[in-house]
Amino acid sequence: MNYQKILEEIEEEIEPFLCEGKVADYIPALAKVDADQFAMSITLFDGRTFSIGESDQKFSIQSISKVFTFTKALKIFSSKLYTRVGKEPSGNPFNSLVQLEYENGIPRNPFINAGAIVTTDTLLAHYKEKAETFDRILSFIRDISGSEGITYDKEVWHSELEHGFRNLALANMMKSFDNLECDVQEVVETYFKHCSITMSTKELSRAMLFLANHGVDPITNMKYVSPHQAKRVNAVMLTCGHYDASGDFAFHVGLPGKSGVGGGIVAIVPRLLSISVFSPRLNSWGNSLAGTKALELFTNKSGLSIF
Ligand code: GLU
Repeated sequence: MNYQKILEEIEEEIEPFLCEGKVADYIPALAKVDADQFAMSITLFDGRTFSIGESDQKFSIQSISKVFTFTKALKIFSSKLYTRVGKEPSGNPFNSLVQLEYENGIPRNPFINAGAIVTTDTLLAHYKEKAETFDRILSFIRDISGSEGITYDKEVWHSELEHGFRNLALANMMKSFDNLECDVQEVVETYFKHCSITMSTKELSRAMLFLANHGVDPITNMKYVSPHQAKRVNAVMLTCGHYDASGDFAFHVGLPGKSGVGGGIVAIVPRLLSISVFSPRLNSWGNSLAGTKALELFTNKSGLSIF
């Protein structure tokens, strides 16, 4: 398949969509990004990569980091993790408080904010110290992407710390239901810090490759999780990776994927490739508008959806 040609066609066809949608501004530092950027990258099992746009441009991965923390927590705690966080779609916005209260502080899944905060709490309890916890998360991301230089954006981290009232409310509510082991402030700080990690579409598509290959990186042969666990992460990406638009994403794109309010999306084609797209303007569900459309164009053109 001529991936480069498909990407170039997408680059042309996506043009009219690039001015639609709105950059996330509830984290003030995110509102400062250049809204017109677009990039897309594919990484194949043999290491070949194909890209269009500003594919080396780093951006805030935000909720895409939840894929990596969920993977890590699943490896450490296995199915015991599901006593603290569920695996069902929420049908609610990513930061909703309502459902969490009537479901007794157990978040629906690890990809809504409450669920990711619990996942971070399990890692913090395991590694005991917040600096160590963040280092372990960061070095995992560096390993899977083969990119030692990956780091986080202090300004975005601090900006979210200053404006993270709703996430603090979620964390406090879970603490009140006894579903948060560590100190609320420390958990939320660590959660915001991994959300503020910056990566390019090239790095992100590389990082997701092990999930397309039953938990084993096809380039380095490093085994990160069992086939069973990789299947679980992919299933939760498919059903919960785009919040209350997860059904819409499955319907139009048809791949397990995860979005972030920084404008990034990652997705995998099982046993073949991983893909990432970046475009900061979001649709009303908080997912990259042009990014979602570009992935839809990709599966339509390549025939590579899982359905
Ligand atoms: N750090 C963001 C928040 O907690 C992540 C949201 C997202 O990327 O969807 O609000």
